[in-house]
Amino acid sequence: MKKMENNPLSLVDKNSKVAVIAHVNPDGDSLGSTLGLGLALKKICNQVAIYINDEFPKKYSFLPAYQDIKLYQSEDHAPFDLCFVLDCGDEKRLGYSKRILENSIQVINIDHHISNTNFGHINLIDAKASSTCEMIYSVVKDFKVEFDKDIATCLYTGIVTDTGNFIYDNTTSYTHKIVSELMELEIDINNITYNLYQNRPLNTVKFLGYILNNLHICYDGKLAIIEVKKDLLGEFNLSHSDVDGVINYARDIEGIEVAVLLKEVNMQEVKVGFRSKSHVDVSKVAQNLGGGGHKKASGATIYNGLDEARKKVEEELKRVL
Ligand code: AMP
Repeated sequence: MKKMENNPLSLVDKNSKVAVIAHVNPDGDSLGSTLGLGLALKKICNQVAIYINDEFPKKYSFLPAYQDIKLYQSEDHAPFDLCFVLDCGDEKRLGYSKRILENSIQVINIDHHISNTNFGHINLIDAKASSTCEMIYSVVKDFKVEFDKDIATCLYTGIVTDTGNFIYDNTTSYTHKIVSELMELEIDINNITYNLYQNRPLNTVKFLGYILNNLHICYDGKLAIIEVKKDLLGEFNLSHSDVDGVINYARDIEGIEVAVLLKEVNMQEVKVGFRSKSHVDVSKVAQNLGGGGHKKASGATIYNGLDEARKKVEEELKRVL
């Protein structure tokens, strides 16, 4: 079993006032790790608050105790003894819940992004871990908290989503070992699979069809770019989180090495997602644009509108493709 350096165990007791927070635009790993750790901490501490920045993505409402996640309110300013920040490469990605961090005595940063800025008082960073959920598994073990089906369901969800169903090269024998232990707790894999992959609303599938019909392919068929104007979300009645998965379809096209998703948030702000298939390190590309992430999945936010964002992205990628 992997041992955590700097284990935060000694800091946690039943009277600790603890916050657990996730990054903006939360995905399966950030929600799974926040809820999984939150549920484990509730077995030790009397006061545990789990925060999210955005609306809870409906797709994940099968997760146990998801109702315990609160939207951060400005009156929740009371200082916390400990704040666990999970799956978050840098403080900017906390959005407005960054204020929780500023109002906490100790910040414990647990993450698997290579680009993590070590912003915590304690930083547990493992860029080789498949997911933050994989790391939380070790933290919970070290807390000597008994795993239960609910914690296991949360951690499995983060692992299965961040490994792309165990096909990405962040999947190791250790990942499978953990998953096998989680499965011993009789988690309902069918239900998780159904909610994650087999229950897509029809409008999201029609949107996918539209996107794939309007793909922009360049650089000798190595780059695929998807542009999503804000109005398009309205036309298909979608939220931002409904859009994210489409980038993987573009990456998986024969000959494509890098896929880019440009999502217009407003006239200025554009969220950019990158995926690569084999040799291009898109974490470096994202870092050059002020973002971060992993070698094969990364992102950045650009504040010069859609056309400018696309130019910048194409320039960056020209060098590596
Ligand atoms: P996404 O395309 O949103 O699924 O993100 C892929 C990876 O890039 C995730 O690991 C994110 O944590 C990271 N990422 C996305 N956007 C940003 C950003 N603006 N800054 C830093 N990292 C990001």
